[in-house]
Amino acid sequence: MSKRACITFDFDGTLYPIAPYDSEQRLIRKVASTKGTLFKQRAKRLILQDQKGTLIGDAFHKRYADLVRTANAGMIDEVARDISLFLSTEDIHALASLGNIADLAVLTCGTENLVESFLQQIGLKQHFFLIRGKRLVWDEAGRARMVVDINEPQAKAKALEQLRRDYPTILAVGDGPTDIPMLKAADLGLVINWNQSQRAYPFETHTSLADVCSRLASYLASA
Ligand SMILES: [Mg+2]
Repeated sequence: MSKRACITFDFDGTLYPIAPYDSEQRLIRKVASTKGTLFKQRAKRLILQDQKGTLIGDAFHKRYADLVRTANAGMIDEVARDISLFLSTEDIHALASLGNIADLAVLTCGTENLVESFLQQIGLKQHFFLIRGKRLVWDEAGRARMVVDINEPQAKAKALEQLRRDYPTILAVGDGPTDIPMLKAADLGLVINWNQSQRAYPFETHTSLADVCSRLASYLASA
């Protein structure tokens, strides 16, 4: 932490496009590929419900934690590599140069391990000083349990507010309904709509990460 401005990003659907699965759904599928029919069916059911948006907060976290208990670091890295391929060199450069003018953070209801591996893959791990979401922690037997920090949309807004102590200016970027409280709490809230879908939110919307970054940079230059 050193700069006067901080930018908080959501992860899934914001730092990469959901096409067609988000990082947690991909991890569930990765684990399921090593299991039998019954497990595969449970995995498929949870993913379908999650895609319909019917599982909020703990209703999802608990079942997700249960399904990924045998996930390992290799699986996380594979998922992170797959989603990192959605970013262009221009996107990555834009994010990196944003790191020169603001401190960058990820506030997500998603999985911190996946965020970290993703940032590692695109060479920007050092550019982000804070990653808050929920974390897979392994015991000695190699089984993972979930430690939940940020569990719902309002918690992202609260996490942003906690940064006010250190930053006079805080900008935020998200992609969906779960980001609205965080975007409202920011001095400037932007939406990224990678797939150029019809849905609309009451926030300035851009269709690429490079565009979002250049808007953030120009806001900070004139602030
Ligand atoms: Mg999202």
